[in-house]
Amino acid sequence: MAKTLLDKIWDAHVVKSIPGGLDVFYIDRHLIHEVTSPQAFDEIEARGLPLFRKEQIVATADHNVPTKNQHLPIQEPLSRFQVDKLTENCAKHNIELYGLGHEKQGIVHVMGPELGITQPGMTIVCGDSHTSTHGAFGAIAFGIGTSQVAQVMASQCLLLSKPKSMRITVDGDVRPGVTAKDIILYVISKLGTGGATGYFVEYAGSAFRNLSMEGRMTVCNMSIEMGARGGMIAPDQTTFDYLNGREFAPKGERWDQAVAYWSTLFTEEGAAFDKELTFDAADIAPMITFGTNPGMGMAIDALIPTEVPVSEQASYSKSLQYMGFQPGESLLGKEIQYVFIGSCTNSRIEDLRQVARFVQGKKKAPHVEAIIVPGSKQVEKQAIEEGIDKVLAEAGFELREPGCSACLAMNEDKIPAGAYCVSTSNRNFEGRQGPGSRTLLASPLVAAITAVEGKIVDITQYLN
Ligand code: SF4
Repeated sequence: MAKTLLDKIWDAHVVKSIPGGLDVFYIDRHLIHEVTSPQAFDEIEARGLPLFRKEQIVATADHNVPTKNQHLPIQEPLSRFQVDKLTENCAKHNIELYGLGHEKQGIVHVMGPELGITQPGMTIVCGDSHTSTHGAFGAIAFGIGTSQVAQVMASQCLLLSKPKSMRITVDGDVRPGVTAKDIILYVISKLGTGGATGYFVEYAGSAFRNLSMEGRMTVCNMSIEMGARGGMIAPDQTTFDYLNGREFAPKGERWDQAVAYWSTLFTEEGAAFDKELTFDAADIAPMITFGTNPGMGMAIDALIPTEVPVSEQASYSKSLQYMGFQPGESLLGKEIQYVFIGSCTNSRIEDLRQVARFVQGKKKAPHVEAIIVPGSKQVEKQAIEEGIDKVLAEAGFELREPGCSACLAMNEDKIPAGAYCVSTSNRNFEGRQGPGSRTLLASPLVAAITAVEGKIVDITQYLN
């Protein structure tokens, strides 16, 4: 029977099938950070369990790290505690840690792929929902809860039922100014935040195939925002070229063997999905969100929808009230106080290059605070080597040190109550970027243009 990409990787990792539909499922890579690992370490220690395969665990500090003066002690007590606990646990259990100040430190979903830790055909987990990012390489990657983190530490396996499969195909050429972020915001706006619940999504079609690996990671990263268990894209020459030569990628003869295997990882003709959706790339415009979930997105020059199903009307009104917007209103001309370019969705070197290309020779609007946070030390280093830091500084942008930063209000970087922030991150819930903060999700290009204009504009005027 013809197999999907999901079938092939899943079947290769089933250690044992349990009557009743559960599989003992093998995990190749376990990424950990300071937020969800402390309780897991406590659990395995309390039960006297050793780590089963610690060489398959890699740790980094990202959520709680400051993005200024990382050489100084962390000021926030809770953040300091979390990061110290991670350091202590990794030392005690002899786990590779790319902690604060380490040249490989970064947001776990940026650091893993750029080091070549993430590879096609793998199963990858982390106690973080945006682990779906790694599916861009043709891997089964998903977030797990704290007790599952402990399970993987103790057994390198999870007890799982196989998710349903969905294929989302977007064919055709995108319009100028439409990036990977716009494609996924468009798809989520069509499906809603629960539209892929229970499914593992494979992205197919020329619009995804034409994306760089950075773009594919942006797409898979946001799979979780429509409820999907994860997202994946079949590996191809773009994937192999990205991985070739990276520190943890196979070398020499092992590289050739790996590529030969990776080349078999695609959905076969005639393979069945539980659900199939198709969109036309030409219908996608530069996007922005107007509400308090990532599904509340629209073309940047559209009007906020007035018609919503009766069952959603109360939450819709509450959401718009929080944002200070009205149904039927245009966002064009809305003044913005903050621009945040960063997060595991859009903090890679390609994102920083795109911003730098646009802002070169321009200045940000005086009333806007424009923060740009590289996803890792390696991205930061590359930005400095390429002179991107100088371009950004001349334009009035503040280039910070790597971390999750204002993607979530769990560290020192917070957006003040009432302020509007155009953000390249992935979540716009009430208070996500700080109590009372109001987040509009968009691409790095839209964010850069907004910073310069000081307000939301129809970006097509810049595209020539
Ligand atoms: S950047 Fe944001 S979404 Fe990504 S791992 Fe950090 S907190 Fe989570």
